[in-house]
Amino acid sequence: MKKLIAGNWKMNMGGADAKDFAVSLKQAVIDPACEVLVCVPFTAIPDVASVLNGSKISVGAQNVSWADSGAFTGEISADMLHYAGATHAIVGHSERRAMFGETDETVKKRTLKALEKGITPIVCIGETLSQRKGGLTEKVLKSQLDGAFDGFALQQMQRLVIAYEPVWAIGTGETATAQQAGDTVAFIRDCLNKMFGYSPRILYGGSMNASNAAELLNAGIDGGLIGGASLKIADFKAIIGAA
Ligand code: PEP
Repeated sequence: MKKLIAGNWKMNMGGADAKDFAVSLKQAVIDPACEVLVCVPFTAIPDVASVLNGSKISVGAQNVSWADSGAFTGEISADMLHYAGATHAIVGHSERRAMFGETDETVKKRTLKALEKGITPIVCIGETLSQRKGGLTEKVLKSQLDGAFDGFALQQMQRLVIAYEPVWAIGTGETATAQQAGDTVAFIRDCLNKMFGYSPRILYGGSMNASNAAELLNAGIDGGLIGGASLKIADFKAIIGAA
């Protein structure tokens, strides 16, 4: 299966800057060997999707509601994402878990709704630094997998993507070594194989950049979720080239 390189713009480039960036990205990434996706702010989805229409780059959101419509102030539904032009949505990013009350339960609800509506969820899991130092990494990851996917059918697992993002490596410049990332992704894959007899694509995220991407992507990992380095065309292009 082709690797997936997904950019996470976070709360950057939500207006005209997004459109300009998408124009440059389309020119820079013509025929990638991997799948390429950019997860952009909600307000930028229509412009970026329209610029990237006909290119090999897909557009995603950074969250999706578990509800169809109604009294959910501030939420964006899967139908709205379709309308805006998104095909994917990040679910349960550690910044949302840490700052906006996202839990395994809400991650599960959002993931189920995205699948029901044909939006591909990229479900994020990962341990904090104190959990890693305390030897709790595997326990934490297993409990996040159970919390997010308990009761899922094989057909549902086949339509989602998982991103392993150690919280201590996100936006910190500190990357997991290829060995750490590869071993942890292998553990996650093993858990999923035991749960479902199948493992979906597992990405690594956490300070992946132009210099460390090749090594990380060679460690048995199916792609990358890239924050900071996805905001620079040259860096993002280099990561895509490494995949
Ligand atoms: C992320 O936001 O998912 C991420 C991995 O960020 P960064 O690449 O900046 O660490």
